[in-house]
Amino acid sequence: MEIIREMREHDYEQVVFCSHKSSGLRAIIVIHDTTLGPAIGGTRMWPYKTEEEAITDGLRLARGMTYKCAAAGLNLGGGKAVIIGDPRKDKSEGLFRAFGRFVDTLGGRFITGEDVGITLEDVDLIGSETRWVGGSSESSGDPGPVTAYGVWHGLKACAKAAFGDDSLKGLTIAIQGAGNVGYHLAKHLNQEGANLIISDIFPDKVERAEQEFGAKAVEPEEIYKVPCDIFAPCALGAIINDDTIPQLKCKVVAGSANNQLKEDKHGAALEDRGILYAPDFIINAGGVINVADGLYGYNRERAMKKAQGIYDILLRVFEISKQDKIPTNNAALKLAEERIELIAQLSARIRKGPGKGLIL
Ligand code: NAD
Repeated sequence: MEIIREMREHDYEQVVFCSHKSSGLRAIIVIHDTTLGPAIGGTRMWPYKTEEEAITDGLRLARGMTYKCAAAGLNLGGGKAVIIGDPRKDKSEGLFRAFGRFVDTLGGRFITGEDVGITLEDVDLIGSETRWVGGSSESSGDPGPVTAYGVWHGLKACAKAAFGDDSLKGLTIAIQGAGNVGYHLAKHLNQEGANLIISDIFPDKVERAEQEFGAKAVEPEEIYKVPCDIFAPCALGAIINDDTIPQLKCKVVAGSANNQLKEDKHGAALEDRGILYAPDFIINAGGVINVADGLYGYNRERAMKKAQGIYDILLRVFEISKQDKIPTNNAALKLAEERIELIAQLSARIRKGPGKGLIL
């Protein structure tokens, strides 16, 4: 793999390789774009089969964070870190503290937190070596409930666009995955009076949703074909693909899962079937909004209010999609890229004051 060539293609700023023999640390930190501010992105721990696989994942995820932050109106850029290792076997105090020291060497260009394979306790260990962590237990904590709150408001925006009314009362909503986000989303939806259908690979999670919210359970592979108003993917990526799109019997796809479209073309394929798609990096931004809030002295109410703003951002995306006659996933990218471009132009023209904003 020619790494610098890959970086050039999508304008990555920096890739840092980290190694510490005695703790076994092998990590890669990717900074995609810091036009809007320091790069933020969780650290993922995964048993990647090859270094190339880890680099590719880090690059892809960092770029996604740039767009997510830009569209959410945050003054943060996009980054991501990956640690090569098995989260069930390879964790140690030394590994996370060594990683924390590498994060610290970047002097605040990169701020990290939880992602797949990383717990709050791991973040706290990283944070014992650097102040450049978000979402530690001392700060904003678990972002899941705020992500779910943002998704709930995103669903309301979708209902407004698709059915002319943002009330979810009486609508049938099928949720894939009753984990952290799926559970909290189901709670909001149940309180609003929606009818729920739920699937998970773990029966205890399904039973909890059945008991607490009167949700109807279906087998994991059945969830795509249940007749419903909204299908909310809250488990895996790449589940909107050539196989699943023909099965869907919904009017809207809107949920928390990252990278829901297997390929870009599947955004257009949903549109062709008359299904409104809420771009994932717009609707699931509540998590990063929550972590970002913690960087300024955490205020839960302020974070929730900002996550509620996903409603208006989504409506704007749908408007761009209509005006420009482009699928909603492309409209979301356009919205994010325009904001980055705007701030880049400001930075090029107006000299910044000493950390107190712009001098006009
Ligand atoms: P989680 O691990 O708590 O929940 C995921 C659930 O999906 C689990 O209960 C799992 O058993 C279930 N699942 C796995 N495979 C499934 C399948 N084939 N069918 C049905 N269920 C299946 O994770 P989470 O924190 O709730 O995140 C859910 C999704 O939202 C992920 O894609 C995550 O990347 C994304 N996301 C989460 C946050 C956050 O703040 N937690 C923020 C942004 C995006």
